[in-house]
Amino acid sequence: MTEHETLAQLVAIDSVSSRSNAGIINYLERRCESTGLRVKRLPYMDANGVEKINLIALSGAEFSEKTAVELALVGHTDTVPYDPNWHEALQLTEREGKLFGRGACDTKAFIAASLTAIANIKLEDLHRPLALIFTADEEIGLIGAKRLAEARAMQSRYAIVGEPTSLRPMRAGKGYCLADIIIKGREAHSAYPALGSSAVFGAARLIAALENISGQLEAEQHPAFDPAYTTLNVGLLHGGTAKNVIAGECRFTLEWRPIPGQDPRRLLDLLDQAIDEEKRRDPDFVCEVDASRADEGFETSLSSILVTMLEELTGNEPGTVAFGTEAAQMTELGAEAVVLGPGDIRVAHRTGEFVPAAELTACVKILQQAIQRLCA
Ligand SMILES: [Zn+2]
Repeated sequence: MTEHETLAQLVAIDSVSSRSNAGIINYLERRCESTGLRVKRLPYMDANGVEKINLIALSGAEFSEKTAVELALVGHTDTVPYDPNWHEALQLTEREGKLFGRGACDTKAFIAASLTAIANIKLEDLHRPLALIFTADEEIGLIGAKRLAEARAMQSRYAIVGEPTSLRPMRAGKGYCLADIIIKGREAHSAYPALGSSAVFGAARLIAALENISGQLEAEQHPAFDPAYTTLNVGLLHGGTAKNVIAGECRFTLEWRPIPGQDPRRLLDLLDQAIDEEKRRDPDFVCEVDASRADEGFETSLSSILVTMLEELTGNEPGTVAFGTEAAQMTELGAEAVVLGPGDIRVAHRTGEFVPAAELTACVKILQQAIQRLCA
């Protein structure tokens, strides 16, 4: 079966993150078993009680407490939702050398390329073990990969994480962190400010402090990135109930993307200092911080043989990504990791997502050569 046909079959299986991914996992399990790989399902229940499954397929190794492989190819099985009016969403359609469909680019093209690569290789000629890892719930917070990392499900020396990079090897990525900040005030008639305490004014002072912190973080530079520092954003803010009521509550969402090597909690420490300062200024200032994500970035050295090999095989210079990927969890599992896949992240997640057919085919060759060089 060609990579094109495999991609069409993968796209036809609806695997939006809110649904169970059992359908696509069943398909991948059959395909891996028919190539002679050993497979193991690692199921869990998501926050809504829906069954999700991570799948590991091994060549040249057994499942045990200490499963260790030379190379892991990692692809997530879930996709973002699609507009029901997009008729090609589940029906791969080719036009002008582009293959359209939900997940065609992110990340089913990489999965199709991986399956084709292992089918083209004589697995019995490999002397070092290889793994294919298919994860759940990447699009809603890398949840499947985090479970694998927490469970220490296996070890890998090298990992290629298949996100769309137009086949450029990306050797480092920023982390992703999120917190809700809730400021409590005291409601009163707005004609009598002394009777209340405005949560909106409190939030405004804290946000001004965050703008200063943002400037402070700019001084800690990682030249491989653009922008070269940890960025932060207050993307949502809501406070108060009416124009003539002193606001009793104001909340905002703080997002930040830490450069690798910097503790993702560093911003929370700086925020705590700003809150303490505000409390000294105003003893009535009440503020809760609900940090829901603190995902670290990752970095693999420019001199790693995985990086130099993929630079040679693709003809593309190594780079970095500003979005979160499962490479961080693969790093936790011991791997030197690189993010690489066909398609462009800028067309992912939108109606009309596509992967260039030529990149899909080129990816098969790159993965085949990578497996042969690292595992043979
Ligand atoms: Zn993705």
